[in-house]
Amino acid sequence: MAKYTGSVCRLCRREGLKLFLKGDRCYTPKCSVDRRAYAPGEHGQRRRKVSEYGLQLREKQKARRIYGILEKQFRRYYEKAERQPGVAGENLLRLLERRLDNVVHRLGLGASRNEARQLIRHGHFTVNGRKVNIPSYLIKVGDVIAVRSKSKESPRIKELMERAADHTPPEWLEYEADQARGRVSALPEREQIDSPVQERLIIELYSR
Ligand code: SF4
Repeated sequence: MAKYTGSVCRLCRREGLKLFLKGDRCYTPKCSVDRRAYAPGEHGQRRRKVSEYGLQLREKQKARRIYGILEKQFRRYYEKAERQPGVAGENLLRLLERRLDNVVHRLGLGASRNEARQLIRHGHFTVNGRKVNIPSYLIKVGDVIAVRSKSKESPRIKELMERAADHTPPEWLEYEADQARGRVSALPEREQIDSPVQERLIIELYSR
């Protein structure tokens, strides 16, 4: 499947809620979901009866879009989640949360996951002191994620460091603003993940 290059606001309108894909703009009145709260396209304002399969599919698409993952990779996460002990849906969300781009965004060092992904690709972050430029890198408990010293001079990184200093990360992450680094103190519990996803529907879809 090819990379999606269209308008990301269209994706939010399709899912009928804010997915916060554009960073700061999402918090302004310019947000497309606030201005046009209906699905995009010619028939976007029509009411439709949605089948059970349709609900499951929408939930999966929503999760993919929130975390910015293509279908093939998303299915691989599902397969991995199924093999792990515990509840598959929770395992799936935990795997998505463990991605480095998500962690950087959760620490406040990327206004959106998209921005975090781009900064990681450009080599602005280290994990346990080593440069990591793979957005899908899965963090573990105890890992330390930091802005590279060289990168601290970049104007955008400076802005993001200020942003992160005022930001409260989720309970499973700790952030030291003076060092511009975060630590993974635990893996997230389901109730600590605020993504508006009903993971059960995704598991049902893939188990069909
Ligand atoms: Fe979604 Fe953000 Fe666009 Fe609003 S501004 S539609 S939340 S990406």
